[in-house]
Amino acid sequence: SLTGTDLHLSFGEHHVLRGVDIQVDAGTTTTVIGPSGSGKSTLLRVLNRLHEPDKGDILLDGRSVLKDNPDELRRRIGMVFQHFNLFPHKTVVENVALGPRKLKGLSKEEAREVALKQLEIVGLTQKADVRPARLSGGQQQRVAIARALAMTPEVMFFDEATSALDPELVKGVLALMADLASEGMTMVVVTHEMGFARNVSDNVLFMDHGAVVETGDPGQLFDDAKSDRLRTFLSQVL
Ligand code: ATP
Ligand code: MG
Repeated sequence: SLTGTDLHLSFGEHHVLRGVDIQVDAGTTTTVIGPSGSGKSTLLRVLNRLHEPDKGDILLDGRSVLKDNPDELRRRIGMVFQHFNLFPHKTVVENVALGPRKLKGLSKEEAREVALKQLEIVGLTQKADVRPARLSGGQQQRVAIARALAMTPEVMFFDEATSALDPELVKGVLALMADLASEGMTMVVVTHEMGFARNVSDNVLFMDHGAVVETGDPGQLFDDAKSDRLRTFLSQVL
């Protein structure tokens, strides 16, 4: 499980996270929704300590991680972004094998084996030996997901993983994310895809101005929003 309690972060005068609590039980998916600038990406970046919180705690399996080496935490949390940033001069399988080789100390052969296994899971075995530029955006994003999975993370973060994709490619990536969720991966997903939030997640967290305004199971949040802010947000995005 992943827990964030009373997380605060300011950039100078700008109080961007204002006491956020998040509880993601093992094997569940939490979707984070909210308007642009509400602090969704910042929350993910604080949870994996790309930014250190000014206040609050982060726990993995009930144990605070704030005193650990941040690199260790980032090995335990896989991250997939809008822009996948694959290495253009490496092949697909080399991109996926890089983390296991460099960070887990596997041999070249072992890392390639791990990478090929992950590529099979994301359905890209045939593309293993081509360069990323030869793939569609959706395929490149599936490589980025394979790259994160190759590190055998305990938790996966997705930050608008489908936002940069052509509409016809979005479905395939969302389906892969839904598969991971149903196989019991623990996930935190920032997305504008309300269908995913509603149908796949166990929990939805609605943020506005750096705070969690409402949280609960998707059915309750989407059909019976308590706050005006969430109702207004949903009326704009649905
Ligand atoms: P979007 O849906 O557009 O991605 P978001 O909910 O992810 O928005 P964040 O990127 O978390 O929003 O940003 C929250 C606020 O923090 C914004 O006002 C943003 O300008 C500010 N912010 C984010 N990162 C930084 C930074 N590195 N330095 C200063 N301000 C930042
Ligand atoms: Mg964002």
